[in-house]
Amino acid sequence: MTESITYSGLKIWDGTGIAQANAITVTGTKITWMGDKANAPREAREINCDGLSAIPGLIDAHVHLELNPDESKPPQRTEAHVVPLMAERARKMAKAGITTARDLGGGAWYELSLRDAIHRGEVTGPRLVCSGQPITCPQGHCHFWGGEAANLEEAKAVLARQVDHNVDLIKVMATGGRLTAGSEPTDAQFSQPILDEIVATAHNLNLPVAAHCHGTEGIHRAALAGVDTIEHCSWVGSEGWASDYQDDVAQIILDNGVWVSPTVNKGWQRMLDSKTGNVLTRVRAAYRQMLNMGIPMLASTDAGIPGVYHEELPAALVVFGKIAELSNDQALRSATSDAARALRLDHKTGHLKVGHDADLVILDGDPISNLDAITKPVHVLARGATALAG
Ligand SMILES: [Zn+2]
Repeated sequence: MTESITYSGLKIWDGTGIAQANAITVTGTKITWMGDKANAPREAREINCDGLSAIPGLIDAHVHLELNPDESKPPQRTEAHVVPLMAERARKMAKAGITTARDLGGGAWYELSLRDAIHRGEVTGPRLVCSGQPITCPQGHCHFWGGEAANLEEAKAVLARQVDHNVDLIKVMATGGRLTAGSEPTDAQFSQPILDEIVATAHNLNLPVAAHCHGTEGIHRAALAGVDTIEHCSWVGSEGWASDYQDDVAQIILDNGVWVSPTVNKGWQRMLDSKTGNVLTRVRAAYRQMLNMGIPMLASTDAGIPGVYHEELPAALVVFGKIAELSNDQALRSATSDAARALRLDHKTGHLKVGHDADLVILDGDPISNLDAITKPVHVLARGATALAG
């Protein structure tokens, strides 16, 4: 019989607020009971967690398992030697409390094999949701991953290839990016009709679409096309990052129910530390405008790009909270219940609830009074499997 374990004496933040319950019972991969510890199922073994807190496992909505953060340049091609490194990155993520991650691009679908191995319980790691090769224009952003398309027909062929590899969503590069020489973050990469058709084709297959967007023109087109998430949403204009925020474009994002995934990594602390504070002022203003309008934002880091390590979402979330001036409750939601909704996973994770997968992080300290507590988990369960034992 599968053993049941009750974690008792916890202060529980369940994904939306402080719960009445102070104990959680886990059986196999699921949460099977929550309530007052005095009434816990008698057959369950009890682990006393007096003085500790519990939150749902964290969700990073934008990572690249394939990329090595220690490399300053993108890969020319994807090579098989990265496979064991990817499993190691996944293990570190789970240990840090990240129990779900959306992988938004690789060249050889290795992250999909890793997704399946994690699902079968062969590798400890976050539940993965994967896009495979992003659709990009010839020599466009991340073309080295093999998803180049010069026209609609070719874009559909790239999309079909991802479907053949059993992806969970489609990624499209709506603008250029910094990682790729010769591609400009300000430039839109696809016309409106092509972007519309990519999104319609994906949605017909019930696949969400994530669009990489730095410049405002690309943001505008992606929002009109009705993508599911806008990645980065940097509002890049001629004066740089966040210099071209446009209210009417933000209104389209809101009206079309698009989520914004701002990819804030912990290195953005430099923005908070900067003496001039110009970029901070602009970025903060754009985030505040979007949040005040009611545009939902979810936590993401773009882990794998130079200097951004896969396991650093907790530290990044603290920085995101400061830049966007979020309450600790809002910051936590952006990486738990809100993120689960955006990723269509809210029926199984993002919320500590009976029947959901046992994705939970036990912390020494109360993250609602001090968000830094999330950077030092004492126990992590990823679908019931221990990723970090205290
Ligand atoms: Zn990325």
